[in-house]
Amino acid sequence: MATCGVIRMKDSAWVSVRIQVVGGRFNAESLEPLAWIAQKYGSGEIHFTTRQGLEIQDIPAEKTDEVLKALADAGIPAGGTGPHVRTVSACPGTACRFGIIDAQRLAQRIFDQVKDRTLTHKFKIATTGCPNSCAKPITNDFGVQGLRKEGQTAYVIFVGGNCGRRVRLADKLPFVCHTEDEVVAVLNDTLDWFCAHGQAKERLAAVMERLGVGTLIEHLQTAHGARGGKQ
Ligand code: SF4
Repeated sequence: MATCGVIRMKDSAWVSVRIQVVGGRFNAESLEPLAWIAQKYGSGEIHFTTRQGLEIQDIPAEKTDEVLKALADAGIPAGGTGPHVRTVSACPGTACRFGIIDAQRLAQRIFDQVKDRTLTHKFKIATTGCPNSCAKPITNDFGVQGLRKEGQTAYVIFVGGNCGRRVRLADKLPFVCHTEDEVVAVLNDTLDWFCAHGQAKERLAAVMERLGVGTLIEHLQTAHGARGGKQ
């Protein structure tokens, strides 16, 4: 199914439409129109995805355009499929008593910056407020974890994780970031590298293993150092 956010169900006469939800946070005022659309076009139920997204399932395929229009009219963004950065998962961050970094704000900022990039394959990101890692950064292509290091707030970054049939835990970068700006710069470096070296349908983990895990890590470390980042 070519339209972003639309997924063909087991029986091709039916589709589900995925809603973009960043960090599992959804406006209360959008719940009512979402419920109305699910009742009018779907089964009346809304599925919560494993990455904190929402899906309206059991929509007759011929009603797809009507559903997309109804969502757009209500200001509810469909998406979260295809060779793009998927909506960013996040824990509550500083809303949690253990939170060191504002994982929610960072997730939204990251997503706003990179959501329109077209990649060679899907790319998953998670931000998590502290080393308890509730948002599971090590099973994402790019994960960020808050840390208190030598009395300072630090952002630990992991690259190359994925779940699926062949699980791979991400590699921790040998440096930390100290600002959100630095994190976004490292993410852009990672995406540039992924676009330059990735083949169609190849996740970041597979590219790293094909070219040597250290190839990406050294590239990121050099670029971070060239921007004046502390090692
Ligand atoms: S990762 Fe830390 S800050 Fe985030 S929900 Fe878990 S305990 Fe709280």
